[in-house]
Amino acid sequence: MDELSLIKRIRRRLPSAVTPSLTTGIGDDAAVLRPPRGVEWVITTDGFLENVHFLANAHPPDVVGYKALARATSDIAAMGARPRYFLLTLGLPTHRLGTWLDQMLDGMARLARRHGMRLAGGDTLRNASVVLSLTVIGESPTGRSVLRSGARPGDLVFVSGTLGGAQLGLELVLRGLYKERTARPLLRPHFYPPLRDRLGARLAAAQLASAMIDLSDGLSTDLGHLCRASGVGARIELARLPAVRVPPALAPHGFAPQELALHGGEDYELLFTVPPQKARRLSPTLAGAKLTRIGEVTRGKDVVLVGPEGERLLEPRGWDHFRGG
Ligand code: ADP
Ligand code: MG
Repeated sequence: MDELSLIKRIRRRLPSAVTPSLTTGIGDDAAVLRPPRGVEWVITTDGFLENVHFLANAHPPDVVGYKALARATSDIAAMGARPRYFLLTLGLPTHRLGTWLDQMLDGMARLARRHGMRLAGGDTLRNASVVLSLTVIGESPTGRSVLRSGARPGDLVFVSGTLGGAQLGLELVLRGLYKERTARPLLRPHFYPPLRDRLGARLAAAQLASAMIDLSDGLSTDLGHLCRASGVGARIELARLPAVRVPPALAPHGFAPQELALHGGEDYELLFTVPPQKARRLSPTLAGAKLTRIGEVTRGKDVVLVGPEGERLLEPRGWDHFRGG
């Protein structure tokens, strides 16, 4: 298999046709984009590495492709932008060039089709392990991208979906419990995280969210990022957290739902703040995602957790690559 036929194979399996705003796609030296009037591009890049982000013997190839693109695109959703195009840099060992590659690309294609994204280019290399680098381009109406820095004291703090499910799935994989049949549905949030692009775009278009971030490293860590960027604090109510349900059969393993919800990584839900006078315009479900109010933005810098024993500081205990989990 040579490089050209490999690129042809990638192109065949992923949506990659030109559009009025992608006038030149795969095949030339570079892609050409033509921004529609009234639109700003939002761009991000994300790496997904074998033995760091996934294990080839525990994560099926289709999960690798799906999740690599979902993670990268989640940052576009968190800006309130619609994902449009992506670039794929792919490093592969020769023993991954067969069905593994096809299944990986099919997982990626499934997410791309569902969310209207097209592959605009990339680079293909040989490497000792699998390396994926995804660059994603989205668009927002000019000036409407939602930043981390817009939260103000008095705003209400909301989160989409359920928290802690992805960490629970990861723990099941790491403890070798994932092969038990009862564990299968519990792996879903870890294998196929949601992509909240429609929710993000709705919140941005209606100018409901004053600040927004996606939950990649865990609530305690990502809420800290949002508060620091906005120069505010927050008060979170433990009892309000939409924590994952741990089935009774797993009780002997000692999983604590509220701890998973507070510090577990990779849920890829959206955390956002809404000025109180706008909060009544929010419905309990928006763009297919359940919304939960978990607290409020405060003056000062402290992120405080209100639990049964009163108030305490919520320390960031989510994922950090250079500190460890
Ligand atoms: P160059 O050698 O000039 O960098 P390449 O041979 O790497 O060109 O790429 C040729 C074309 O194929 C380019 O349009 C590039 O964007 C595209 N391409 C290469 N690898 C990938 C990939 N993994 N996914 C999508 N497009 C790719
Ligand atoms: Mg190249």
